[in-house]
Amino acid sequence: MTATALLFRDDAYARSCTATVLAVTPEGGVILDRTVFYAQGGGQPGDVGLIVRSDGEKVDVTNTVYGSDRAQIVHLVDTEEAARFTPGDNIELQLDWERRFKRMRVHTALHLLSVVLPYPVTGGAIGDGDGRLDFDIPDAGLDKADLTDKLNALIARDAPVTDRWITDEELDANPGLVKTMSVKPPRGSGRVRLVEIEGIDLQPCGGTHVRRTGEIGQAVITDIEKKGKQNRRVRLSLVE
Ligand SMILES: [Zn+2]
Repeated sequence: MTATALLFRDDAYARSCTATVLAVTPEGGVILDRTVFYAQGGGQPGDVGLIVRSDGEKVDVTNTVYGSDRAQIVHLVDTEEAARFTPGDNIELQLDWERRFKRMRVHTALHLLSVVLPYPVTGGAIGDGDGRLDFDIPDAGLDKADLTDKLNALIARDAPVTDRWITDEELDANPGLVKTMSVKPPRGSGRVRLVEIEGIDLQPCGGTHVRRTGEIGQAVITDIEKKGKQNRRVRLSLVE
């Protein structure tokens, strides 16, 4: 089975690409050989946008998900529209960039939030213009205004955000790396993608990020909810 090439991994700013149809599922899924569409995962929703047929006709992509083996990415469209695709068709993909860029800004802001609140993260989600992280925090006493100030101070540093792949062996050879990371890397797949916000954060992540923290723009902590004795759900929102 041919895996889908994940172009968004190498360049989160790629808004369109040409691709070839590999297969079509009965559920309205169009599987392509390559994609700039992020597939739903890690608390981030799947991308939406358009598939443009070679005759220029446009088909809405309503969500993007991983196939059952996680090697292929499935672009969900109307089932009748999907039936009109044939393996081998050449198409163009066009991302709903406005929505994706907001998600990239929120996602990167959540990395910063995990630095402002250096506690174990138990969950998280990214919306369009807002997001949340759940923390295992033994005691309350969190202040929205204080967290907002700290978050915006990190954003204002306009730190570069970069990613790199390292092998499990490189990880083993650099035990200090794990110590500096805010999240422990998953083991077993042979390699790990590290995302670094220079001087601020280092953690394994497969998501899409902005190039510099300044691109997030102003953010505000909108809510701190109590979720059980040891859990706080902290919500942030972009200020447009
Ligand atoms: Zn990330």
